[in-house]
Amino acid sequence: MLNLILFGPPGAGKGTQSVKVAEHFGLVHLSTGDIFRANIKGGTELGVLAKSYIDKGQLVPDEVTIGMLRGEVEKNSGAKGFIFDGFPRTIPQAEALNAFLSEKGTSISSVISLEVEEEELVKRLKMRAEVSGRSDDADESVIRNRIEVYKNETFPLKDFYAASGKVKIVNGIGEIEQIFSDICARVEEAKA
Ligand code: AMP
Repeated sequence: MLNLILFGPPGAGKGTQSVKVAEHFGLVHLSTGDIFRANIKGGTELGVLAKSYIDKGQLVPDEVTIGMLRGEVEKNSGAKGFIFDGFPRTIPQAEALNAFLSEKGTSISSVISLEVEEEELVKRLKMRAEVSGRSDDADESVIRNRIEVYKNETFPLKDFYAASGKVKIVNGIGEIEQIFSDICARVEEAKA
């Protein structure tokens, strides 16, 4: 299996690139943010719970997120591989993912780290608010909080995965197609 993590701060372009990478390599795209938003739209119990965190720019608790992700992987048992977008976001989530994939006889192939500097992220998210309809993009203090949460809780994952030599860095500033081709090149290196 080819199992990729698209890693990076909010606004780095993970969603846009994940869709393209999933299509290119024939992977199932799992975005925890998209799944939470679908649950919010559908008015499910999970959606109500998730919304209370998302609207403040906080992380949904690990046990909820891990359980949901596990369910989504199980639903796609015939997949050639996965691209995880927005997951894992904490060390316990990464540990759970490793354990879970190893139960299935597989592992993470590569972690693509999309790098964009902070002020550019804020600018992009404020622009996205005009079209995304996302309440967590509409308020600059929520955007800043999401970036702080990223720095404190998610960024340490880079070292967690670097220890296994799986992290590939890609510059997230530039044309979408250029970034996509850089990501594909890094994935091909990982496959070789
Ligand atoms: P995203 O669409 O990836 O920007 O995620 C939007 C929001 O959903 C985040 O700010 C979190 O509140 C929540 N969320 C998404 N993925 C996770 C995750 N792996 N762990 C905890 N919360 C998450």
